[in-house]
Amino acid sequence: MGSLTSPHFVIFPFMSQGHTIPVLYLSRLLHSRSAAVTIFTTPGNSPPIRAFLQDTDVSVIELPFPQNVEGVPPGVENTHKLPSMASFPPFVESTKLMQKSFEQVLESLSPPVSCVISDGFLGWTLNTAKKFGVPRFAFYGMGNFSFTMHSILSRERPHASTKSLDEPFSMSDFPELKFTRNDFESPYNDIEPSGPLVEFMVEQLAATAISDGIIVNSFYELEQRYADYWNNKFGPKALCVGPLCMAAPPSQALDNPIYTEFLDRKLAEGEPVLYVAFGSQAEVSAEQLQEIAEGLEQSQVSFLWTLKPNGSEFLQKFEERVKSRGIVVKGWVDQQQILRHDGVKGFLSHCGWNSVMESISAGVPILAMPFIAEQHINARFLAEVAGLGLRIMPRSGSVRGFVAAEEVERKVRELMGGEKGAEVRKKAAEYRDAASNALKEGGSSIRTLDMLIEDVARKGQTFSGGGSAGCCLDGQDFDSDHKNQRPQF
Ligand code: UDP
Repeated sequence: MGSLTSPHFVIFPFMSQGHTIPVLYLSRLLHSRSAAVTIFTTPGNSPPIRAFLQDTDVSVIELPFPQNVEGVPPGVENTHKLPSMASFPPFVESTKLMQKSFEQVLESLSPPVSCVISDGFLGWTLNTAKKFGVPRFAFYGMGNFSFTMHSILSRERPHASTKSLDEPFSMSDFPELKFTRNDFESPYNDIEPSGPLVEFMVEQLAATAISDGIIVNSFYELEQRYADYWNNKFGPKALCVGPLCMAAPPSQALDNPIYTEFLDRKLAEGEPVLYVAFGSQAEVSAEQLQEIAEGLEQSQVSFLWTLKPNGSEFLQKFEERVKSRGIVVKGWVDQQQILRHDGVKGFLSHCGWNSVMESISAGVPILAMPFIAEQHINARFLAEVAGLGLRIMPRSGSVRGFVAAEEVERKVRELMGGEKGAEVRKKAAEYRDAASNALKEGGSSIRTLDMLIEDVARKGQTFSGGGSAGCCLDGQDFDSDHKNQRPQF
């Protein structure tokens, strides 16, 4: 960076696990490239953040979470503690009340803030960044493919003439791909979407459109076509700096004796293990869990299934029946460590983007079973675009709906032992190497990150207005005439 002073990045994650985890990795990466980093969070969210960063000089500052907000239960500071998604709009809206305390602390920050990287859901931080005369980058935790397809849907409305949620349509620049409105989450898949969630997203995306860029947890080699498309057609520039999970602290031995012993034993027996997990947000019904359990049981495949504790009786009997080749772990596990275990050869996943990145980084192919958010689009990407996974389909023929045990059994067998499984496994190994190279010295993600740090350090010359990071990378050229359109839903 020559004579430039190291910049100070202020990172403000959204209060949900899936959004916080990747930016903690990002903070480690920035820190490892000699940038100063401060994370802003709330008292209820800070203990795991501090623990995760304890071996670094990254500072963690707590701002009080707004109190007495209608619709937000007292003491709730993270979305996974919300009683239901109905509380999400008031929860996310309440974060705006943190702006004053955020700015008060920023006033006294030393060295002064050079750049704000904040969650896409915290669009109000753009005003703060502007007040302090520093760039703001948004982070959404989504891949380029998904972000781009959502943007095309809202701007070009290719679904406008569909008569049902399952009628296929294409995006004009990607005619080879078929989508249905059911691939997108309600209410964004409505033909005339409205309501508090839509208003919220419009506001956040408008702030993003005039921000300095989007930090993307992906790597250019995986999503080149979609990152280029986004940068040429939409913007602000997407900076692919992932897979961020590869900035995890040096690997420690698995510390949970139940699953460590199980995975080691299966590896020694030459029995490939399917890892099964559906993330922290999706609510899977008891009936659906039972169907998945039956499918796993009938497949005869060895598996490690991590579940939110729910005390269901059928699960106890199921665990007893399958105990020689499958275990169910209730509660938090170190997913990344599991995926990197040599015995794990497949991942039955909800396709949350962090899980996708973690699986690709470990070279493990995915059996996609999406539930909510942008998971259906990620599933299409894995199964139909990247060739990194197979897909479990509901029996209705729609992409949403109840999945039968026979379908689980058939696809699990195919992934773990079939011809198609072998194909996606080969692809997964190729992408694992590409992911690892992206984060090596000279790799695409590291160069993008270094360029970001340099640009921020030179901010007086570079950041002359919203939307232009002025960055240039091989194949990631930034077109300053890009159409910085206001998003519409
Ligand atoms: N995770 C974990 N252990 C668990 C459950 C989740 O380590 O028991 C991590 C997982 O590795 C990933 C994140 O939590 O980094 C989940 O994010 P993702 O985007 O996959 O799904 P979400 O939870 O947001 O639906």
